[in-house]
Amino acid sequence: MSTSVTWLGAWTPEQGSERVRRLFEARFGDGPADGTWSAPGRVNLIGEHTDYNGGLCLPIALPHRTYVALRRRDDDLVRLVSAQEPAGPREVRLADVAPGAVDGWAGYVVGVAWAMRAAGLPVGGFDVAVDSCVPYGAGLSSSAALEASAAVALDSVFGLGLAGSGDDEGRARLAAMCVRAENEIAGAPTGGMDQAASLRARAGHALLLDCLDGSVRHVPFDLAAHDLALLVVDTRAEHALVDGQYAARRASCEAAAARLGVATLREITVDPRGLEWALDKLDDEVQVRRVRHVVTEIDRVTWFVALLDAGEVDSVGPLMNASHASLRDDYEVSCRELDLVVSTALAAGALGARMTGGGFGGSAIALVRADAVDEVAKAVADAFADADLRAPAFLVATAQAPAA
Ligand code: ADP
Ligand code: MG
Repeated sequence: MSTSVTWLGAWTPEQGSERVRRLFEARFGDGPADGTWSAPGRVNLIGEHTDYNGGLCLPIALPHRTYVALRRRDDDLVRLVSAQEPAGPREVRLADVAPGAVDGWAGYVVGVAWAMRAAGLPVGGFDVAVDSCVPYGAGLSSSAALEASAAVALDSVFGLGLAGSGDDEGRARLAAMCVRAENEIAGAPTGGMDQAASLRARAGHALLLDCLDGSVRHVPFDLAAHDLALLVVDTRAEHALVDGQYAARRASCEAAAARLGVATLREITVDPRGLEWALDKLDDEVQVRRVRHVVTEIDRVTWFVALLDAGEVDSVGPLMNASHASLRDDYEVSCRELDLVVSTALAAGALGARMTGGGFGGSAIALVRADAVDEVAKAVADAFADADLRAPAFLVATAQAPAA
């Protein structure tokens, strides 16, 4: 079959900065920006729907980044433009920013300034232009890339001193403010993985994030050295009712934790005295499956990291497959398109494959031999064409640097 394969390339830092600088000057013609900054999207290797349960996850920062050009103002007005938002520029007064008061994409940016001010930091108005090569709404965290790029830009122009390249404590504070922006101003009840990945990851490493205490460990992750590659497939699937589903999963975990008398599901260990005890104690069959996913998924992160530490990255495939099965059957956040990527990639020789991100569409990942990337991508594109599905898009993920 002659299906073509669409690759989503990343811009070089020079290309990204140049684009956003030009957009800034076209929109705010009265002089240049104070500078340009950028922040990456992320892909999670394993540990899905664990962040809001105090669990573990293991994202890497993508080569695909969101760029901002930003200039400080002397009043409290924020003027925003994004190349990705054709509906046009926005204007918001910081004094008017509050939960429920800002609709649409501007909330992700002004929400960061709002959270900074709520933390007592001296942040005022600004003009900002945004452009991005992070796939939009694809489960690769364009939202956190937008928040994190705004955060490091505001840190710089208002002299907050939190975004130094070696300052993980400062960056953790910025990540927490980005989470507040997303939860309280943009109104998306996501956990903290995306913002941590964008602000605290390290090039050449996966970020082991412990969502219970916010601590991180940088785990060397260099697939090329093992002749492997991570293929990411954006299914481009659009499913209705997604927002409510995420909140429902979260509520179900919280209800189960309350029933079990624990603060978070992280306290339930995978051994029989933990997991079996917990599953016996729950009388709600749905909660049983949700808890089983979360507890076993956290355990899989631990095993995945142990294999990376042992230099055995070519053995992580079965953990990825088990993660997918658990998300599909117990957590019920997969969909036809994600399942099709996984089954097709495995049939085409991938070592392991799983959905990544929140689910219901978005993206899947496949661990493949470096020389088989094109072949696996082609097999997936063909399978989508055969099934009459919208053509997916592909990228190859390597672990890149955080926001700066
Ligand atoms: P994901 O984070 O997986 O890409 P989300 O639904 O969490 O998907 O975030 C996508 C939303 O984030 C967009 O609908 C938009 O509101 C905002 N956003 C992300 N990137 C940009 C951008 N470059 N310009 C304007 N808004 C953006
Ligand atoms: Mg997001």
